[in-house]
Amino acid sequence: MSNSSTRHKQKGVEILVRGTVQGVGFRPFVYNLATRLSLTGTVSNTERGVTINIIGEDADIKEFLHTLSHNPPPLSTITDISEQPCSPDPIPGTFTITTSLSGGEATTSIPPDVALCRDCLAELNDSRDRRHNYPFINCTNCGPRFSIIETIPYDRPKTSMKSFPMCTPCKNEYHDPADRRFHAQPNACHSCGPGISWHDRDGNSIATDNILNTAARALAADRVVALRGLGGFHLVVNGYSTRAVDILRQRKKRPDKPLAIMVSDIRVLSDFCYCSESEKKLLLSPAHPVVLLRKKNNGKLAENLAPGIGEIGVMLPYTPLHHLLFNAESCPPVLVMTSGNESGTPICTANRDALHRLSSIADYFLLHNRDIVTRVDDSVAKIIGGRQMIFRRARGYVPEPLHIPWQLPKILACGGGLKSTFCLGRNHTCYLSQHIGDLHNLESYEFFLESIDHFKRLFQLEPEAVACDLHPDYMSSLHAEKLKLPLYRIQHHHAHAVAVMGEHGLSSPVLAIVMDGTGYGPDGTIWGGEILQVELTSYRRLGHLGRLHLPGGDRAATEPWRMGLSALFNTYGEKGLTCENLPAPLKHINDASLETLRTMMCKNINSPLTSSCGRLFDAIASILGITQYISYEGQAAMELEALAEKALTSPIKKLFPPNMHNFISPFLYEKEGKWEICSTEFVKMLITGLAGGKSRADLALQFHLELVKALAGLTRILSSKTGIRQVVLAGGCMQNSLLFEGLSSALHSSGLETYTGEKLPVNDGAISFGQIITGGLQHVSSHTHEGHQG
Ligand SMILES: [Zn+2]
Ligand SMILES: [Zn+2]
Repeated sequence: MSNSSTRHKQKGVEILVRGTVQGVGFRPFVYNLATRLSLTGTVSNTERGVTINIIGEDADIKEFLHTLSHNPPPLSTITDISEQPCSPDPIPGTFTITTSLSGGEATTSIPPDVALCRDCLAELNDSRDRRHNYPFINCTNCGPRFSIIETIPYDRPKTSMKSFPMCTPCKNEYHDPADRRFHAQPNACHSCGPGISWHDRDGNSIATDNILNTAARALAADRVVALRGLGGFHLVVNGYSTRAVDILRQRKKRPDKPLAIMVSDIRVLSDFCYCSESEKKLLLSPAHPVVLLRKKNNGKLAENLAPGIGEIGVMLPYTPLHHLLFNAESCPPVLVMTSGNESGTPICTANRDALHRLSSIADYFLLHNRDIVTRVDDSVAKIIGGRQMIFRRARGYVPEPLHIPWQLPKILACGGGLKSTFCLGRNHTCYLSQHIGDLHNLESYEFFLESIDHFKRLFQLEPEAVACDLHPDYMSSLHAEKLKLPLYRIQHHHAHAVAVMGEHGLSSPVLAIVMDGTGYGPDGTIWGGEILQVELTSYRRLGHLGRLHLPGGDRAATEPWRMGLSALFNTYGEKGLTCENLPAPLKHINDASLETLRTMMCKNINSPLTSSCGRLFDAIASILGITQYISYEGQAAMELEALAEKALTSPIKKLFPPNMHNFISPFLYEKEGKWEICSTEFVKMLITGLAGGKSRADLALQFHLELVKALAGLTRILSSKTGIRQVVLAGGCMQNSLLFEGLSSALHSSGLETYTGEKLPVNDGAISFGQIITGGLQHVSSHTHEGHQG
């Protein structure tokens, strides 16, 4: 009906929106907004982002842009909106969603997998709904994303849903812009979508009239069920049954490692855990991570879920299948859900592979027929001192891009050895991979290589440089070398510190307290308890924990008694290692072992020196008799922390009053301009305490407090020398609440600002992110120099 006068008022604008804008209901949102404002034009997904052409009245266009930037769809993250005028001719009669265009460089991002939304949950439980009890219900606001995407742009034919042609009702929803499932790529129903099946451990399908009730009965009867989920398999048992947990532990050969649980409903939690408001919020966030919560001592949970540890990893159901399982008759309200793998290998994703690898562990298999394109483990998070910390970044967070203020070349960073990740970077954007794990395992290494290829394809990024750890033997470093690209080797603890700087956009020099397990030092010793002055591309080591021998090398990391003896040797010399002088918990060590270690350390045979904080914790745990052998990484430190917490009568903050700045730690000393925190004093403190009849819990707490005081005291001295007031806290040991909260409080009361990893792990999971920044900036500056010379 437009005549020439209205036609004149019409304007045209082309808008490009970048960020996490695909697979989050962005186009239907745009469609509905444009239609409401009587704008005409088109919206489409492209590899650059979402492109919108709108034509209409000036005021309406303004309102459109305002709403788009201020109230975008809840799951989207807009990083950039650009607009330019375009011709309004010819004016289309409607607003349409056009098919995705391919071609050009991908700068758009792919959303992470999202937990089932409220609306879908209501439909799932509604007996009148056509998706009542459908295990794969989803909509534009929820469901699988990253785990099913093969390539971009994110459209059904490029996901593992392509093998499920939609039925007519599903198709209608998919094409109806007013529907919640408009362009929901994994849209499906009972009649057209994926389904579940029930199998014995030999893979034979077992007929049953209700698979979920059968599965629930098996769980209630202490059976182990392998459950194919969103990003991989879980091994599932009844979380209230000590016997079931024991069977799972034996078959999985995982004697002590804490197992995560899933609870049917957040209200069940209060039966056995403490849960603050911020912890609740985290549990219910779209990512639905495993959250570490403090256990109540009421014995409701199976007692062997997390032996020796004061907390337990808890998550809520995040797929419709989980909800249905809990709804099933006689399903236990708490289920152990541990990664479906053999110890040390990556989580299984394919049915056949799981039947092959898990048949000695699981009694039954609950399978489905939707392919998992990308393996993603559960993410693990914790609230410490009011701050969210991510211990393992995977499902729900990956591949959300990270934006940094500095310009990077196209670069790959290969990460560390354990808890490994890799990172791809370009311009101001970094794509950090999901948790991959221990690369010494062949399957994990293959997963690492596959995932690098997958990320390169998804983000259409071919690196021109590579960064890796200084450690020459890491599988990740060996891979980096093979690429024959300009290579930047970044010291482990430098990378830890820069990862935190990157997350917070800190450009100026910082002091970094990096308390960690193991890192290759440029002086040939093993580092791990460092205070560094850090800039993005360089660092200086200002201080460190006193060095201890690692008798037996790597074996010392799994046998704390070796570190116990090492610390005694370091404190008292050879006479500390005689049977009569050993503290009670180490008296059982036989003469031959004692003699061997004594010789190794005296003669420096296979006993490299280390400043590792992790090994100091091992030594203390050994001397206090907490543990002498560990079966998972960090076990001794976690048990030491749990014991110390038993002696803690008030919040740790109160132990670091505002007058902390007057405090001088007796544990500090300076040697040739380098500061050391002397571990011998900790040992003397323990030995005296034990002899005086102090409780082990009190001594464990005292150790934490003295370590905090010494680190904070040294940082304060270094701050006044350097004038630097920003302090970065990083390294795996910062996952220890007492250490982290104590340090934050003590530094804060000295007037220093602290920063730590919140979106990214403080452990080795973020090493590749630190490497990519340091390596990338070094590459840029080396090229700039070449340019000048040329
Ligand atoms: Zn939904
Ligand atoms: Zn259907």
